[in-house]
Amino acid sequence: MALTISNLTKTYPNGTQALKGVTLTIPNGMFGLLGPNGAGKSSLMRTIATLQDADTGSIWLDDIDVLRDKEAVRRVLGYLPQEFGVYPRVSAEELLDHFAVLKGIGNSKERKETVAALLQQTNLYEVRKKHVGGYSGGMKQRFGIAQALLGNPRLIIVDEPTAGLDPAERNRFHNLLSEIGENRVVILSTHIVSDVSDLCRSMAIINKGEVLLTGDPLSVMNELKGKVWKKLVEKTELPALQAAHTVISSRLFAGKTVVHVLADSAPDSGFEAVQPDLEDVYFAEIKNSELKVALQ
Ligand code: ADP
Repeated sequence: MALTISNLTKTYPNGTQALKGVTLTIPNGMFGLLGPNGAGKSSLMRTIATLQDADTGSIWLDDIDVLRDKEAVRRVLGYLPQEFGVYPRVSAEELLDHFAVLKGIGNSKERKETVAALLQQTNLYEVRKKHVGGYSGGMKQRFGIAQALLGNPRLIIVDEPTAGLDPAERNRFHNLLSEIGENRVVILSTHIVSDVSDLCRSMAIINKGEVLLTGDPLSVMNELKGKVWKKLVEKTELPALQAAHTVISSRLFAGKTVVHVLADSAPDSGFEAVQPDLEDVYFAEIKNSELKVALQ
């Protein structure tokens, strides 16, 4: 099972070019689509989920022509949108049962079993009688996964699922996602780098409607080996460093500023080499793409 996206473009009526020729092959397992806000992730996810049309290009899910045969896609798709929408004053059990009916699970015994199993799997069984509207952010997202799993879909899309979750909830949600990633395509769209480094065997970085990089997290990190340098500086030193070097990130640590710089050799004696992590890869790619745009 694989999803093959070729030369996908989309311009909104207001002139925003959200997708500028996206080409991607997404294999079985958990795939991370990483990019900053406005990169085009949701536009791509909504197009794959058959909720919006592209201008040009193609998407194939094995032998299903996604842009034309929408019904066939919907039969095998589970989707957790960025905004899951209204949470009515009904219990999780009732609401999931309702979604199961919509998904075409007509047999009531089968439906009951499916709903119970999914509530167990998402660790909501104990609170199944509570109104979904009263759930915490993490519980709502787990409910979102439960409804996305109805009908045992072969393609699952989760759009920015961990934004707004606290660390414990995010961890719980990661564990849940890691269990569903076998034998199907799961696309996780996110601007949070650790979502991808924790969970995904393959990934892409996208910005301004373009794919900047694809690969597996370990290889893309290895490619930056020997090129990322770290220095602890005072905040006031930052502008001079930014003018002289390719600063890919700067963050506070114990009141000081930790700067990561991209360079083929040590920028000066105050820098030490660091093992690149996925955040370095991400910021380096975004920075490079912005430099390219600035030079055009
Ligand atoms: P992401 O999910 O990565 O944040 P989006 O796909 O939501 O990115 O947005 C990509 C670009 O398209 C942004 O510039 C956004 O403002 C714009 N955009 C998204 N949806 C619409 C829309 N319905 N109409 C006009 N512009 C849109």
